[in-house]
Amino acid sequence: MTKPVIGLLGGGQLGQMLCQQAGPLGVQIAVLDAEGCPAKQANHNDLHVTGSFKDPEKIRELASRCDMLTIEVEHVETNILEEIATQGIEVRGADGKTYRKKVPVHPSWKTIRLIQDKYEQKEYFIKKGIPVAQQMAIASDSDEARKASLQEAATRFGLPFMLKGAKGSYDGRGNYKVRNAADFEIAAKEMGNQPLYAEKWVPFDMELAVMVMRLEDDDGNLIKVVPYPVVETIHEDSICTTVYYPPRKVADEVKIRAQKVACDVIANLWGRGVFAVEMFLLKDGQIMVNEVAPRPHNSGHYTIEAVPQLSQYKAQICALLNTVPKELTLAPRVPSALMVNILGGAKPDSHDKLVELTQTMGNSSMDVYLHQYGKESKPGRKIGHITATGFSSIHRLAEQAKPLIDAAAEMRA
Ligand code: ATP
Ligand code: MG
Ligand code: MG
Repeated sequence: MTKPVIGLLGGGQLGQMLCQQAGPLGVQIAVLDAEGCPAKQANHNDLHVTGSFKDPEKIRELASRCDMLTIEVEHVETNILEEIATQGIEVRGADGKTYRKKVPVHPSWKTIRLIQDKYEQKEYFIKKGIPVAQQMAIASDSDEARKASLQEAATRFGLPFMLKGAKGSYDGRGNYKVRNAADFEIAAKEMGNQPLYAEKWVPFDMELAVMVMRLEDDDGNLIKVVPYPVVETIHEDSICTTVYYPPRKVADEVKIRAQKVACDVIANLWGRGVFAVEMFLLKDGQIMVNEVAPRPHNSGHYTIEAVPQLSQYKAQICALLNTVPKELTLAPRVPSALMVNILGGAKPDSHDKLVELTQTMGNSSMDVYLHQYGKESKPGRKIGHITATGFSSIHRLAEQAKPLIDAAAEMRA
């Protein structure tokens, strides 16, 4: 039986890891992105399309070669995805005649469009009764209107508050912590002319994340949502640096609640695949949703080694193709795991020391796995990650892996 060809918009590291896991499963992936992008490095075939995942013509070309489309980045053109999924595209058959072919998009273009706009995303969650931080749109008609709007946010939410770009943000690029009135102008200048919104500052105790697998039948009916365990994520300067499984010092009751919140959120979206739900855990035990990623996610990289039977990438493929194992278990096969991002340093070779360290760190109670993405190093850019799996508690593992965590922090200093 020939398996369907999956078309992937975006060929960064998430696409690369998806391709790495698709190959052994006998699934072909056609990637739309630049020549030589990380995903294409991992998967050579004749189906790839060279171009931008924001270019409607290129997306159409990709769709003509595939049975289904998916994404590894949410900042894509959704009008064309809607058209492809609902009206179809014209393709030429083997008989020379043209006919229309509808290509399913998973997760749905509706989900991608909603998630793309972080303000709209949270307005939707509020409507669905999901707890999120208070927010307000910032006027952008003129400098005066923007300033008055920022002043209103400060009055409503107090200082500091977080100013965010509604669209196109990632790794904290698009976030500005507004500390005082003098910041209004600096923030406005820094953020440029884009739709902005303000978010009340959340004095969280910890950040948590849960990956959720969403299964749907061919008619778009939800079959079920299945959560991975909750992880603790550490962000520094708005970018994820470290992930701990299980979270350190979190009660079981909270972990279960976090999974439940995550499942509620994802049940309210549309389409198949894996999704990440980023959350804040407050001192009083309250959980707030920060945002959703409609795709595999940095907080789920550890599943490659810790949940080898169904890593987030295998889960993505199984969910897309509706070939989910009968006895589905997302339980990790190790008691603890942690992930350290390799972020580009000041110099192109700043990360060499960290990479070398991975070669001497493994021992009888900790395995260390190095992933480099084949990306050019730039300051603050995610160019790889390291996963360590442990055979006892997360506290013991964190202790043992401390030199890795310290070396990664030193590179950023
Ligand atoms: P990603 O790469 O995850 O898509 P992003 O650019 O969309 O990131 P956010 O997730 O909005 O950015 O924020 C990044 C980080 O900034 C959060 O994980 C958190 O550490 C911090 N942060 C965001 N919003 C708030 C808030 N309202 N209060 C306090 N800290 C916040
Ligand atoms: Mg984001
Ligand atoms: Mg985020």
